[in-house]
Amino acid sequence: MANSTLIGKVHINCSVCNMLHEVEERARMTSTVIKGEKVFCEEHYYVCTGSHKDNCEFQTENLMSNNQMAARNAYRKTHDLLTSDEIVAVRENYGLTQVEAARLLGWGEATIARYESKAIQDEAYDTMLRIIQDDPFRAIALLDKNSDKFPESKRVQIRAKMAEKLDSYGKEYLSRQVFASEYVQFSVPSDFNGYKLLDIDKVESIVSYYASQITDLCKFQLMNLLWCADALHFKTYSNSMTGLVYCHEPAGILPVGHVNLTGLKNVNARVEEDYEATRYHFYPNTSLDPSGLSKNETAILDTVISKFRNYDAPLLASCIQEESAYAQTEQGNLIPYSLCKKIRVF
Ligand SMILES: [Zn+2]
Repeated sequence: MANSTLIGKVHINCSVCNMLHEVEERARMTSTVIKGEKVFCEEHYYVCTGSHKDNCEFQTENLMSNNQMAARNAYRKTHDLLTSDEIVAVRENYGLTQVEAARLLGWGEATIARYESKAIQDEAYDTMLRIIQDDPFRAIALLDKNSDKFPESKRVQIRAKMAEKLDSYGKEYLSRQVFASEYVQFSVPSDFNGYKLLDIDKVESIVSYYASQITDLCKFQLMNLLWCADALHFKTYSNSMTGLVYCHEPAGILPVGHVNLTGLKNVNARVEEDYEATRYHFYPNTSLDPSGLSKNETAILDTVISKFRNYDAPLLASCIQEESAYAQTEQGNLIPYSLCKKIRVF
């Protein structure tokens, strides 16, 4: 046992003397052949110290499979392939199960499980794994491409986890990209966007301005107030301020993609726990350029604020529900800006 290391002692069924007793677990370097190539790796085995037989060594099935794993990983290292542990780490970084990781990469469902336990990935597969390891953007792109392979709630959860891995520059880019992607179908001026294309900078400026003038501004209040600003601007100037498209919802008139609007980097939203529920509250963003709003636009916002400053979300919603833009549309329908010409409240 000159070149072996004692790892520890374990109480197991000894297959040398067929008795349950304490045996030594030892490790030594060995060579084995993987894919026709000789590799050197560490091998673990048990030693029955009470036996006088010639061969007092044995291995359990578990130990053998660990040894094979070590041999495959030694081969991977010499070929610059990810080891099984590294493959586990790649998927766990995004909170993916083996099956989810395989679906993300467009592979057979058992592929990842096989690479983690009993097979060596070829180079093309290794390259794919490294791409998602190094680049959350590519991981997100793959998720979007293979979105039909995930239940919607799971897809959203995984996407959020991937977005979490982006640095702040990446986050800002992504939050805009995600929000803008909801507006791809509104890429020409129409009655639905108020003859203006989505202007995310403007949306961020308006949110910050409202938050600076209204204390305790919460999410549904803000969303309805965005419509008020766009509707009043349309009534006055025949185009919207932001290019947002609005929808008839139970909570009032809300912009399409409002879930992602809250995630915009320059929208200063904080989740706060009320005694009843989790609510978003909005705060001014002092790093925004104050010239992002024109005099006319600020005047529109001031009109909206002076009317609704003291309305809570339910009162504001009930007020908006009386407008013909709401009354003449149905649940889930988009609101044409032309209906805003008749807005009565201002
Ligand atoms: Zn024994």
